[in-house]
Amino acid sequence: MRDGRASFGLALAGAVAIALCVANPHALSAQEWSGSEGSTTAGPSLKDYLEQVGPDAKLIAHGELKLDGKGVNCGKRPTVLNPNFDSWGGAFPGFLILNTKKISGLSTQVKLYIYSHECGHQFIGADETQADLFAIRRGVKWGWLDAQGMEDICTFISQLKGDGVHPPGPQRCETMRKAYRELIGSGGQQATGSAAAPKAQTLGPAQ
Ligand SMILES: [Zn+2]
Repeated sequence: MRDGRASFGLALAGAVAIALCVANPHALSAQEWSGSEGSTTAGPSLKDYLEQVGPDAKLIAHGELKLDGKGVNCGKRPTVLNPNFDSWGGAFPGFLILNTKKISGLSTQVKLYIYSHECGHQFIGADETQADLFAIRRGVKWGWLDAQGMEDICTFISQLKGDGVHPPGPQRCETMRKAYRELIGSGGQQATGSAAAPKAQTLGPAQ
């Protein structure tokens, strides 16, 4: 309970901080992956963004977004599906952006990672490493991230070069891999190893 209240308080503080910054927009490029992900400290309103992007964009209300059939949310924030966005995903104060075209070939866990990374920006601000760690924590806590998914994320991210705000992809992979191992190792929600694998139904007692 204490944890829940604490993270709610944190989330609220983050939301307020982001909301305050909306009044002072000077950078219109969205917090991003390859350098132009967007900004969670300044940016257009949802309405303005939709007008800028035009008819190709699609607004998905809170609670309605599914990635490969899996429902996702980021508090009460909506998501704009923008096939022309210059990265896989992005974040502006109060809403997320996904490039449906770019993410379409990725595995489900990589898609969930991208969405969760962008969601992380909503709570923890512009820090790219913290947004990555937010996504990994969420994946373990909510049960969608397993060892295979962690490998998929590393394969995906390791192709990316770093820039002024993003560490090089291989380094991001290592940071997330380490966090994943710690979360699993510290009695995280996920069972590991064959000992925890469900036993197959058999016809009769072992011979
Ligand atoms: Zn980011």
